[in-house]
Amino acid sequence: MSQRYDLHSHSLASDGSLSPAALVAAAHAASVDVLALTDHDTTAGIAAAGACARPLGMQLVPGVEISVSWQNQTVHVLGLGIDPDCRMLQEGLEKLCAFRDWRAEEIGRRLARAGIGGCYEGARKLAKGRIVSRTHFAHHLVATGRAASVRDVFKRFLVNNRPGHVPGQWAGLETAMSWITAAGGMAVIAHPARYNMTASKLRRLVGEFRECGGSGIEVVSGSHTRDNIIAMAALSRNEGLLASCGSDYHGPENPWVRLGELLSLPAGCRPVWESDRWLNPAACRRPVARQA
Ligand code: AMP
Ligand code: MN
Ligand code: MN
Ligand code: MN
Repeated sequence: MSQRYDLHSHSLASDGSLSPAALVAAAHAASVDVLALTDHDTTAGIAAAGACARPLGMQLVPGVEISVSWQNQTVHVLGLGIDPDCRMLQEGLEKLCAFRDWRAEEIGRRLARAGIGGCYEGARKLAKGRIVSRTHFAHHLVATGRAASVRDVFKRFLVNNRPGHVPGQWAGLETAMSWITAAGGMAVIAHPARYNMTASKLRRLVGEFRECGGSGIEVVSGSHTRDNIIAMAALSRNEGLLASCGSDYHGPENPWVRLGELLSLPAGCRPVWESDRWLNPAACRRPVARQA
């Protein structure tokens, strides 16, 4: 019988709204067999998620969603099957979290200058000592009546040319890839259709990614339309990359994205879990063999 995979999800350790334990329970209830926890720039939820998955007979794939700056844009790269105890990975993530802390204060200062005070404190409080993301700012702004919805906050405050926008200074692509490789994980470009890149720019990203040892792209994502899926399936086939699928679940408050309820990978896609390197750290740490 085929297994149900969901290889992209968030917990309270980053900007999800469920604890790692509650996330695993929700995935189990949704008949997910293999769940990757991929919090933004942190692996803090993995131990708790793994401990809850084991007695349920569910497989928890230790993962991370690394923020990368590439050609003046933010791109997200998933590391799947990483060893959370890898020092090189953790040192890298610490740098990203230090930038996150500074950026949160800077977002607060910029919003204050625009007449909206107290946002840094508000977002910090919601983050409860964990990483601060723009999602926390969005929830604070909605809760204090400054915007109608999270989507509205992003549009009005947190993106380019808006008062609370701070450009990302994340990891370089090659650097992020070196952390994932050192930690024995496979690298997958998250939600590739979401970057609003031209087809040629996306091919350039994919090319550089592959040069750095990247394995796959997320063909099926909670944020991809059917047309996106068809286009990303073609991209994965043409570029010789494996295909992944993940909901990018952040919690039950977003009813459009459900754990494990994903369209199948289109025909001709080779799933990441069929690779010899899947959950095989030793094979991942070896340099990628060039195809003849
Ligand atoms: P950060 O990594 O702190 O810059 O925050 C990025 C996160 O914000 C993403 O992972 C999403 O969860 C969320 N996000 C980004 N854009 C939007 C949007 N337009 N609507 C809702 N959430 C968004
Ligand atoms: Mn997020
Ligand atoms: Mn993302
Ligand atoms: Mn995500």
